[in-house]
Amino acid sequence: MSFTSRTFRLPLYVLLILAGAVLAAGLAMQQTERHALADDAGRARGQLALYGNTLHTLIERYRALPAVLALDPELRSALSGPVSSTTQDTVNRKLERINSAAQSSTLELLDRNGLAVGASNWRLPSSYVGHNYAFRPYFLQTKAQGVGRFYAVGVTSGIPGYFLSNAVTSDAGDFLGAMVVKLEFPELEHEWGQGSDLLLVSDAKGIVFIANQPGWRYRELQPISASDRAELAATRQYDKQPLSALHRQVIQAFDDNGHLVRIEGPDGAVDYLWESLPLTAEGWTLHLLRKPQVAAEDMRNAALAAAGTWLTLVFLSLFLYQRWRLARVHQRNREELEQLVEERTRDLRTAQDGLVQSAKLAALGQMSAALAHEINQPLTAQRMQLASLRLLLDHGRIDDAYQALTPLDQQLTRMAALTGHLKTFARKSPSGLRERLDLAAVVDQALLLLEPRLRDERVSCVLHLTRPAYVRGDAIRLEQVLINLLRNALDAMRDKPLKRLEVRIEAEQPAHNSTKPRQWRLTVGDSGGGIAQEHLTNVFDPFFTTKPVGDGLGLGLAVSYAIVHESGGTLCVDNHGGGARFTLTLPTDPEA
Ligand code: ADP
Repeated sequence: MSFTSRTFRLPLYVLLILAGAVLAAGLAMQQTERHALADDAGRARGQLALYGNTLHTLIERYRALPAVLALDPELRSALSGPVSSTTQDTVNRKLERINSAAQSSTLELLDRNGLAVGASNWRLPSSYVGHNYAFRPYFLQTKAQGVGRFYAVGVTSGIPGYFLSNAVTSDAGDFLGAMVVKLEFPELEHEWGQGSDLLLVSDAKGIVFIANQPGWRYRELQPISASDRAELAATRQYDKQPLSALHRQVIQAFDDNGHLVRIEGPDGAVDYLWESLPLTAEGWTLHLLRKPQVAAEDMRNAALAAAGTWLTLVFLSLFLYQRWRLARVHQRNREELEQLVEERTRDLRTAQDGLVQSAKLAALGQMSAALAHEINQPLTAQRMQLASLRLLLDHGRIDDAYQALTPLDQQLTRMAALTGHLKTFARKSPSGLRERLDLAAVVDQALLLLEPRLRDERVSCVLHLTRPAYVRGDAIRLEQVLINLLRNALDAMRDKPLKRLEVRIEAEQPAHNSTKPRQWRLTVGDSGGGIAQEHLTNVFDPFFTTKPVGDGLGLGLAVSYAIVHESGGTLCVDNHGGGARFTLTLPTDPEA
C-alpha cells in the first residue's frame, strides 16, 4: 500500500462512518415521524367519531318535528283552502311559538305549490312568508316521497341551514303542502371552533358547507361535473356563494380515510393530518384536519440513539476485525518461526555430520602416529624372532622353533585386528543407524584401540562393566565417543604420578512409579585433577580446548555430545575423586 493511498484512506473511512451515522439518524427520525403521525392519525380518528356523533344526534333531535307538526289539525286546515290573512297570522304565531320551544332555527309551512303560507320568522325582514320554494329539492322530495332533507343557503335569509320537511296530507291522503324545519349550526360551528383542529362537513358533491374556521366553507374538495353544476344552479343550493377549489396533495396515506396532505389553504401551504368520516344517514362526510405535531425532542432522541447504535456496531466490528487480523499475523509468525526452526535444525544436523566426520579424521591422524609406533615395535621384535627362528632351524631344533612361532602368530593377529578396526573407523557411517548392541562390547573395543597408550603410560584400569548392556545405536559412533572420553582422561593424567582410570556400566533404576524407561549409565572417571569450575559449562562447546595448539581441536566432546543425544541419551560431566567424571546414559533396548 502506498503512502498516499494510506493518507487518503483514513479520512475516507472516517467520512464513511460519519455518513453512516447521519444516515442512521435520518432514517430513525423518519421512522419516528411516521410512527408519531400514525399515532396522531389514530387519535384523530377517535375524535372524529365523537364529532360525527354530536352532529348526528343534533339532527336526529329534530327529525321527528316536521312529521309531528304535519299532523296538527290547525295547520292542516289552513292548507285545505285559500289562506286568509287571519289564518296566516294564526299560523305565523303558532309556528313562532313552537320554534322557540323546540329551539329550531326556523319553521315554515308551504302549500301544495311551494308557497310559504306561514313561517316562524314572519316578523323579520327576511321572512319566508309569501316566497315560493317549489324549486328546492326538499319540497320536490316531500311532494314525491313524503319526506325531504336538503342543506342549502337560504335564498331569502342568506343563512345556510339544513332543511327537514314532511308532507301535510288531507284525510284522503292528498298532498296539501309541506312542513319544513330549518336547522342552522352556528352553535355547533362555534363549539367546534374551540379546539385547534379544523372540522369540515362536505356534501355528496364534495363541497364544504360547514367549517369551524373562516375561509374553509364553500370549498370544493373534488372537481365538480357540469351536470352537478347545473343542478346546483337549479336548486340554488349555495345560492350566490362563490365556490372555489381546494388543492390538496397527498404526501402519505395511513388508510382509506387517513392521509397526510399538503393544502394550499387560506393560510398558504400547510401540512395536515386529514381524517374523514362518512355520515351515511345524511350523505355527508365529516373531516378533521390537524397540524401534525411530532415532538422535536423525540425525533432528536431517536436520531441520537440510532447514530449511537450505528457507531457502536461499527466500532465493535472494527474491533473484531482487528482481533481477527492480529490472530492471523500471530498465526503467520508462528508458522514462519516453525519453518525457521526446522531449517536451522536441518543446517545444524548437516554441520554436525560434518563435524563428526572431521573429528573422525583428526582422531585418525592422531591415531596413525600411535599406530605406526605400535606396529613398528612388534615388527622389530618379529624380525629378531625370525632371525632366532632361522638359527634354531639351522641347528635342527625343530621343537624350539615351533614354540618360537607362537608369539609371532599372536603379534600378527593383534596387528590385523588393529588395522581392521582402523578401516571401519574412518568410514563415514550413515547417521542415525540404530542397531542393537552391547555397550560393554563397545567399551572393550575402545580400550583395545587405546591399549598401547594404556600400557606405555602405565595406567591402572578399574572396570565394572555390567554385561550385556543392550542399547540401540551406532556402534562405530558410540565407540568414537568412548575413545574421545578415554583419550581425554589419558591426556589429563599424562603428567600425574597416579594414573587411575575407572569405567563403569550400571543399570539405572527409575523411581518406583516413574514412567521413565530403564537406562544404562556409563561413567568414565580419571585422576587427572578434573576440570576448572569455570570450564565445566564449556567443555561440550565446539572448539573449546585447553590443550596446546596442535594437540587438541576442541571437537571431541562436542561431537560426542551430539552423537549421544542423537542416540536418545545424555552426556554430562562433574569432578569426582581427584579427577573428571563423564556420565553417559542411554535407554536400554526395549527388546532386550
Ligand atoms: P580436545 O580434547 O581437542 O581439547 P575435547 O572437546 O575433547 O577437545 O575437550 C575439551 C576440553 O575439555 C579439553 O581441552 C580439556 O580442557 C577438557 N577436558 C576434557 N576431558 C577432560 C578430563 N578428563 N580431565 C580434564 N579436562 C578434560
